[in-house]
Amino acid sequence: MRLILIGPPGSGKGTQAKLLSENLRLFHFATGDVLREAIEKDTSEGRKAKPFMTAGQLVPDAIVNEIVAAQFRGSDKPRDFVLDGYPRTIAQAIALDHVLAEQSLGLDAVVFLNGDDEEIVRRLGNRWTCPNTMCNAVYHALFKPAKVAGKCDLCQTPLYQRDDDKPATIRKRLQVFHECHDAILRHYRDQNLLIEVCGSGDIEAIHAKLVNTLRV
Ligand code: ADP
Ligand code: ADP
Ligand code: ZN
Repeated sequence: MRLILIGPPGSGKGTQAKLLSENLRLFHFATGDVLREAIEKDTSEGRKAKPFMTAGQLVPDAIVNEIVAAQFRGSDKPRDFVLDGYPRTIAQAIALDHVLAEQSLGLDAVVFLNGDDEEIVRRLGNRWTCPNTMCNAVYHALFKPAKVAGKCDLCQTPLYQRDDDKPATIRKRLQVFHECHDAILRHYRDQNLLIEVCGSGDIEAIHAKLVNTLRV
């Protein structure tokens, strides 16, 4: 199965993409994770992306499109995947259409995980992330606490709070999302791929609803 998860920051894309990837054996591909890894490794892409990410703005399309194209053109290209956090602009959606057409990979569904802005600010203020780039697990101080406070359940690495999970930057990211999302949703609605799922409620219940909606 080939899926895209679209939604505002904090709507639970990463959390749900991880569950789908485990249960449906999909490759979980999150451009945010790839970009944070590039920054951590201080690559030229990372150096270019960092100021945009810190400011809560989108990284330029050319950089992100190249990351995605390289993944799909490489030797370990995925056939079944869940894309999390990409595409975020119409130019990215069009670039992805080209890359997938070139690889003869059709999408099965695009899920719009909807969320309420105020709940998002509350969620992201309490998000704790595993910095291990092989893991990238995500926790929440109240809703998904780590078993040992401050340590990743999966790899024991100390957790951190993302630089861009500060209230002012969260609001900037939400504004950026609202500016772009209509066009993206229209793009996939026109292709008859769009499914809308409400992102509030229990994490496992949302996962069950997703699996049910995707009828797998
Ligand atoms: P969240 O899951 O909270 O929405 P992400 O990890 O997906 O956050 O993204 C964090 C930041 O990385 C974004 O605010 C943006 O700066 C950058 N980024 C990630 N994906 C993209 C993309 N597809 N296009 C442009 N910038 C991106
Ligand atoms: P996104 O990738 O869309 O930015 P995340 O999956 O990283 O979102 O979730 C943002 C924060 O909210 C994390 O701390 C996560 O543990 C928490 N979270 C995710 N889904 C839910 C939910 N259904 N209820 C409460 N908290 C959630
Ligand atoms: Zn970890």
